[in-house]
Amino acid sequence: MTFEELGLKSEVLKSLQELGFEAPTPIQEKAIPYLLGENSDFVGLAQTGTGKTAAFGLPLINNIENHAKTPQGLVICPTRELCLQIAKDLETYSKHLKVAVVAVYGGTDIRKQMTDIKRGASIIVATPGRLMDLINRRAISLNEIEYVVLDEADEMLNMGFKEDIDAILETTPDTKNVWLFSATMPAEVARIAKTYMTDPLEVSIGHKNQSNENIDHIYYVVKEKDRYAGVKRLIDFNPEIYGLIFCRTRQETATVAEKLGKEGYSAEPLHGDLSQVQRDRVMDRFRKKDIQILVATDVAARGLDIDNITHVINYNLPDDIENYTHRSGRTARAGRKGESLVLINTRESGKIRAIEKQMRTTFTLGTVPNAEEICEIQLMKLINKVIATDVREKDIEKFMPTIMAEFESMSKEEAIKHFVSTEFNRFIEYYERAGDLNATAGKGDDRGMDDRSKRRDRKGDETESGKTRFFVSIGRRDGLNPGGLLRLVCDATGLKSANVGRIDIMTSYSFFEADNEYADNILKKVNGADYEGHSVSIEITKAKSGGGGGNRGGGGGGRRDGGSFGGKFQGSRDRAPRSSDGGNRREGGFSRDRDGGRDRDGGRDRDAGRDRGTRSDAGSREDRPRREGSFNRDAAPRREGGSSAGGSRPRSFGKPFNKK
Ligand code: AMP
Repeated sequence: MTFEELGLKSEVLKSLQELGFEAPTPIQEKAIPYLLGENSDFVGLAQTGTGKTAAFGLPLINNIENHAKTPQGLVICPTRELCLQIAKDLETYSKHLKVAVVAVYGGTDIRKQMTDIKRGASIIVATPGRLMDLINRRAISLNEIEYVVLDEADEMLNMGFKEDIDAILETTPDTKNVWLFSATMPAEVARIAKTYMTDPLEVSIGHKNQSNENIDHIYYVVKEKDRYAGVKRLIDFNPEIYGLIFCRTRQETATVAEKLGKEGYSAEPLHGDLSQVQRDRVMDRFRKKDIQILVATDVAARGLDIDNITHVINYNLPDDIENYTHRSGRTARAGRKGESLVLINTRESGKIRAIEKQMRTTFTLGTVPNAEEICEIQLMKLINKVIATDVREKDIEKFMPTIMAEFESMSKEEAIKHFVSTEFNRFIEYYERAGDLNATAGKGDDRGMDDRSKRRDRKGDETESGKTRFFVSIGRRDGLNPGGLLRLVCDATGLKSANVGRIDIMTSYSFFEADNEYADNILKKVNGADYEGHSVSIEITKAKSGGGGGNRGGGGGGRRDGGSFGGKFQGSRDRAPRSSDGGNRREGGFSRDRDGGRDRDGGRDRDAGRDRGTRSDAGSREDRPRREGSFNRDAAPRREGGSSAGGSRPRSFGKPFNKK
């Protein structure tokens, strides 16, 4: 179907053409013709990424009278960011029409917004709190409203906007059409639909990846400090992986890729700090399978359209649930099967629940593979590789008499054992020391328990580990309630309500918790924010280190995973095994650095000169047992500032990656 067929005005079609929108998305196809008609109450179950903004935005600007000075359209959404985004989209779509779009949201000067409205607004895009403020000040007329769009209705209700939404819907004319969009349909959203709509058309659109049943979503619970080691085990357990590892920040992306690279995996980073040329080059190599694993940020991986990715590994969960859908959708394309693996720390199971809810999918709790499982997989891989190796008869022929003479005293079985052991011993040695990385979610076993009930179960001043507890200078006396606080925080920071933890509202002040990683953002943005005329100040009362504080779970106790195997077994050309056995033996013949084979035995020389005992990198903070002798340290220079595990851990071996 084309946009022309949907019945939009030529001016609108022109902007779509300029935007490069070629064909409507499924929700646009269903919604637009209906919303262009009269009596168009509508419920759309859809989330960001489906094209829902245009699904309501295009008919809205199409239906609004040109030059209207009094608002005819009203879009209500939960956060300032979304508000600005929608307003911007509407302006783009209506470039060739005379439609004035005004965005009103909290946290900024209301007077400027009042002036903007006075100057004439055809469409108001608003967050509920600020809109109520404007209504109460009689600064806005809603008498001529014909369309009310409720975007992310479930999120608005989560944030405690229920009363505001009811009030807004009561205030607007009975003749209006209500177009409601929501990712989920909890009872409260259904109530709004029932109360304010007449016979609405209901359209449910999964995200284009959402209904992909070929994706297995599996999560693993590890201690925060074991995240990196966990990822390596997942890679080792899936030697043929052709995968994407997603990190949240450029820094994390660079660090993880670098560590993996140093440990011999075929991994490269893809993030915004790279130039376009560098990015293109990395993508190209990944596409050609010269690189086995791409470590990427969400933004950088956008537009990466590759069909045969076997695994997506979420090093961390994204801040925005929507990004998880994008991430996981990189695998299982074109009818193939794929796995989306997620590492969470012991406090993050609530995030899994939130994603399950939003994507309407189910995650399986996986077990980080243990030593034996990985050894078995890698052993089989080695054997298969040995069997599949081309024998260069002509080249080896002349050595055969000597070789046969050397092996004369061995049986076939013994000879095979010896060959296999030349590679396999290293696995065994390494994994003899590797502990169990599986941890248990939550303080108790919190699987199946959602975050909020968990919050309630905690006592008074106990802060969840991995969370920061904030003091907020306003409380019940100032009209604050939990929804209001969520609103305040989410509106100021752009976080979702699921990112905020326990909330305690006291008479004249309050407390709340959020994951440590959001602490800076929250401090910066919420401090000085306005809550219904009160200037808010905020301080950290308590921050615990991320996830590692517990003394249960993690099976391995204090033991550290000491690295992984990478491609020791591969004899790979492109990521050749480096000598890794702690000086017992070397494999100079294959050894080459990651820059392409200069310095064949460089690893050895550099290792030899390295001071094993002094570790100034971040990894050394961990109380890892000494592993002297078992493995060489990285051949490459030490990393500083690496996040958690592994910066100085024994290196693993070049990761196999046989191009298919
Ligand atoms: P939304 O679900 O509204 O957040 O939209 C997701 C993204 O898809 C936005 O960047 C839109 O600009 C884009 N988009 C929406 N509709 C189309 C379309 N028909 N063709 C191409 N891109 C679209």
